[in-house]
Amino acid sequence: MSAGIPPWLSHYEKEVPASLDYPDIPLHTYLENAYKCYPDHTAIYFMGKTMTYRELFHDMQLFSRVLQQLGVKKGDRVAIMLPNCPQAVIAYYAVLHIGAVAVLTNPMYKKRELEHQLADSGAKIIVCLDLVYSNVVSVLPRTDLEHIVVTAIKDYLPFPKNVMYPLKLRKEGVKLHIPREPYVSYWDDLMKQPDLPELEKPYIDSKEDLALLQYTGGTTGLSKGVMLTHANLVANVEQARAWFHRSRRGAECILAVLPFFHVYGMTAVMNFAILLAAKMVLIPKFDLATVLKTVNRLRPTMFPGAPPMYVALINHPDLKKYDIRSIKACISGAAPLPREVQERFEAITGGRLVEGYGLTEASPVTHANPIWGRRKNGSIGLPFPDTEAKVVDSETGEEVPQGEVGELIVRGPQVMRGYWNQPEESDNALRDGWLYTGDMATMDEDGYFYIVERKKDVIVASGFNVYPREVEEVLYEHEAVKECTVAGIPDEYRGETVKAYIVLKEKKDVSAEELEAFCRERLAAFKVPRKYEFRDELPKALTGKVLRRVLVEEEKKRMQET
Ligand code: AMP
Repeated sequence: MSAGIPPWLSHYEKEVPASLDYPDIPLHTYLENAYKCYPDHTAIYFMGKTMTYRELFHDMQLFSRVLQQLGVKKGDRVAIMLPNCPQAVIAYYAVLHIGAVAVLTNPMYKKRELEHQLADSGAKIIVCLDLVYSNVVSVLPRTDLEHIVVTAIKDYLPFPKNVMYPLKLRKEGVKLHIPREPYVSYWDDLMKQPDLPELEKPYIDSKEDLALLQYTGGTTGLSKGVMLTHANLVANVEQARAWFHRSRRGAECILAVLPFFHVYGMTAVMNFAILLAAKMVLIPKFDLATVLKTVNRLRPTMFPGAPPMYVALINHPDLKKYDIRSIKACISGAAPLPREVQERFEAITGGRLVEGYGLTEASPVTHANPIWGRRKNGSIGLPFPDTEAKVVDSETGEEVPQGEVGELIVRGPQVMRGYWNQPEESDNALRDGWLYTGDMATMDEDGYFYIVERKKDVIVASGFNVYPREVEEVLYEHEAVKECTVAGIPDEYRGETVKAYIVLKEKKDVSAEELEAFCRERLAAFKVPRKYEFRDELPKALTGKVLRRVLVEEEKKRMQET
């Protein structure tokens, strides 16, 4: 296939150009542009308080100076461990603004996940929520952290600040016997300093300089840092804008339910909203009642999400009480979107809900169904502008005949530079500029792509990725577990749910509840298996590799029978 979308797709070409001109700018220029054009427009709505683009730009500049005062230089990594709140946007753009690299960290992470991400990225500073501060302190010895900036949700709310700040780090540091003693400061104190140094703007080469190290799980059990440049991120938002070509700059309102610490929320919500100088309605935690009330009151025009969110919404018993017809466009990603959900959602809102596809390694979006053009159900749609896509034999890289299953590979300006400090893994994923997605797919005669299954065994539960190996490693730590494997089994609500299959050691016993509690202490809640099955043995291939697929098939059969 030649560069871009297949030439026979005239309907798509008329709506969305096959190729675009990308501005050679660092990503944060979009925030400056939004401020210059729409200083008094609302940039952020957060729990009853609003912030204009002028205020957002001002606070971003202020925090850039704070970071420089703390010693952050171009290329340094800064971790941001926050839910959707104004500080998440301010910190992210400030990090980019001074040429540093953002490491977006899930605030739900427990010790082992957090420790790996901080140690591997070599982050020098972390900006975290007060509620996760003790987790950060507990992993300090293995990290290079020099400074912890603590902030509270209430810092940006019009309520009196009666937040109990955590213990001073000095005390914790002594207790942990750590040689270095990082400093801890509070966001508010830092932002109020009268004598901050003037901002020094480093030169940023958007094609070369990294904006983001975004961690994504791997088959090896430990997550890898995906290196995304400013140009990668600029390309993906420009592609999204061309795809959503009826969007109006300065006039859209985007519901920010997807977390910004995930690449999908970061690009499809935060960066896209700022490119459009849109109003972002921040929701720190998905809660259906809040979402419905917010849509009813604030009239967002766009709601990017994942299938479980739309499923929950259309099944809400009080849906009729709310007017959610302001929603014009939604892109659903991360997992397959059932037809019924799409049709019911569209009937209720009168807007469009289309399926797209992407992965962290591609900033993330590579495919989407046209919003107003021809959509195909069950399909992830067509490649974005300037994105080549092929279905190939994973070993040879040869294209398979049209309609046959092979590995989906993509090439385009949004594709990563590689994995951080992992040259072998990078060479494996990137061959001649083609990204091997690990997803098995087909392409139909019109050039629409369909995901058949995942080559890698990642489980997508409620839109969150769960890597079986990581969960298995935790289970293996339990003294009663002899062997185990973890698989994703179909689940009506979550798409997939995590199930653990356990073989116990002789004369040892443990209940499902005890194992669940054990996992809960060591893993973020979304990774904890919801189901447990104790077996005498696990099905294995001749090589000794556990056959997860056999277990999943068994499960599907059982489900059909009941
Ligand atoms: P992440 O890197 O966390 O964004 O996860 C990317 C993975 O999510 C892809 O490699 C796919 O396996 C899966 N995925 C994303 N979008 C879809 C979709 N529309 N249908 C099926 N799987 C998807």
